[in-house]
Amino acid sequence: MSVKYDQKLCLGGVSLHIHYFNVTYRCNNRCYFCASDSPSEFLPDLTVDEIRKSIAHSGTGPGDMAVVNGGEPTVHPHLREILEVLVDTGAYVVLFTNGRKLADPAYAMSVLRCGLSRISVPLYGYDATTHDDCTGIGGSWHETVEGLHNVFRWRESMGTPEVELKTLITDRTIGYLPRAISTILRMFPSVDRFVLSGLIQSDTALASHAAVDLGNPQLLEQLNRAVMEALQIGSRLILDSVPLCVLNPDVRIQWLFSRSKRSCARGRGQTSESYFVYADAKFPEGIKERDWWNISHCPHEQCRLHSVCRMNPRYFRSPIAASGIRPIVEV
Ligand code: SF4
Repeated sequence: MSVKYDQKLCLGGVSLHIHYFNVTYRCNNRCYFCASDSPSEFLPDLTVDEIRKSIAHSGTGPGDMAVVNGGEPTVHPHLREILEVLVDTGAYVVLFTNGRKLADPAYAMSVLRCGLSRISVPLYGYDATTHDDCTGIGGSWHETVEGLHNVFRWRESMGTPEVELKTLITDRTIGYLPRAISTILRMFPSVDRFVLSGLIQSDTALASHAAVDLGNPQLLEQLNRAVMEALQIGSRLILDSVPLCVLNPDVRIQWLFSRSKRSCARGRGQTSESYFVYADAKFPEGIKERDWWNISHCPHEQCRLHSVCRMNPRYFRSPIAASGIRPIVEV
């Protein structure tokens, strides 16, 4: 039986391994901020054999986390086999998907039957117009929402997987972020985790000027309202690459309080043996990095919140976007 990743994070003195598979660069969406620059790069998919070899090379096993992402993993013709191989290792297996193909109940069931630990699905708006405007595909909202209903139906009867919903902070979503979060959380009240995330500054995101200026007071107000909205609805809110210093002090305190109720201090369990392995068609065996995604990358190490803040310069490469960042001297 796999150890829940979040539980393992709370154990003392353990090494944490994340094995991340970018199984395909292909995607059935055309998001204007695409994090993996999918339309511009046509590399082959990772094969099941390459994934087996990569697992053997890294020794991925029980207690580790294996992440399947893309592009869009559901366009990979052998996704189910990949998931079965990863689940067989005993790792905590997470599937990132736009959820559109899960609108087909038979397909959804065949994927969920593989024994995933967590599924993570993004929504970028509060209705079909706002969401489809971001994905570039008419009808994508309806398919993703239907896919999520299928996931929740399965989860209700089988107990797994954990369901994570997610939205991104972009120049388009920031205008309606509180409304989007409120709508999503009320549509899916039994969601396990809700992630509010900054935007990876991919070439596509940079070309479309999708980054927001965190020094802009109006945009910051929207961000603060969005965080409060999620907290008031009572969701388990994960702030991914959202610099905590851009939040109003009262909002920040409430988020810290909600977090302290549900988890241990992040990183308590890490040892120097913790690592992150990234594999894709260019690096099928995987590239091992010590410095993995749960570590704060903010240069302000004197900040009181450095150990809990997941700010990452990869998301805020633009000096404009980073202009609101300043160390917290008192919490
Ligand atoms: S200064 Fe850095 S560590 Fe501190 S809250 Fe801001 S982004 Fe996070």
